[in-house]
Amino acid sequence: MKVALVTVGDELLAGDTVNTNASWLGERLTGRGVAVDRVTTVPDRVDDIAGVVREYRDAYDAVVVTGGVGPTHDDVTMDGVAAAVGVDLAPSDEALAYLTEHGGYAADDLTEGTTHLPAGARVIHNEKGVAPGCVIDSVYVLPGVPTEMKAMFASVAEEFAGDEPHTATVETPEPESRLLDRLSAVRERYDVAVGSYPGETVRVKFTGTDEAHVADAADWFRERVETAESPPAAED
Ligand code: ATP
Ligand code: MG
Repeated sequence: MKVALVTVGDELLAGDTVNTNASWLGERLTGRGVAVDRVTTVPDRVDDIAGVVREYRDAYDAVVVTGGVGPTHDDVTMDGVAAAVGVDLAPSDEALAYLTEHGGYAADDLTEGTTHLPAGARVIHNEKGVAPGCVIDSVYVLPGVPTEMKAMFASVAEEFAGDEPHTATVETPEPESRLLDRLSAVRERYDVAVGSYPGETVRVKFTGTDEAHVADAADWFRERVETAESPPAAED
């Protein structure tokens, strides 16, 4: 299963808010064996949201959208998603019933922003806030507030599944440029994905669906690089 993430919000593009929703969802989905193939951030603009959601809905098994589903003027995500799938926004009796019965809201206090969804969408109830999310046409719409988004993702997480990935990591103080020969050798020898992530040390990550194969690749590599446990022979 391959999915795309769309995070909506001017504040994300401006750098005012760190896009923790994307990293959190990326980690959760990857952990469920789902490949996250795209993360795109768009402004709070209907056409931008509609364009990218339409493109990704056609290209991926599912699209997860977060942000811009509240009642304020800049919350236009539902309009964008409705346009992408070619429907209008319509009052959702189910969303209204949940908000009045479970949320304790008076129907008159609720604005269209919290009770109108793309016509035909399935509601995802929001236990931590007001605005509901929804699913339509394999497009999952969740709020931007991280606590609300996480709780609502939990209620649909089962719908995202793939082969469980196995990973192993080797950390080495050797500079990346010196590792090229062994990186290419391990990739030739083993059918696993190899990622090299330099920081203070270089973290080399092996990923695949066969647990033993991933472990073998990591062992082979570990034996051929410096590690904290196997420092280089002292030079005198
Ligand atoms: P609300 O109903 O409160 O308006 P919303 O779904 O409309 O929620 P936004 O208005 O986009 O969401 O953002 C609400 C809050 O969540 C803001 O403080 C925003 O910075 C934060 N937020 C939005 N998107 C993200 C994200 N991708 N990562 C982390 N925080 C986010
Ligand atoms: Mg908002």
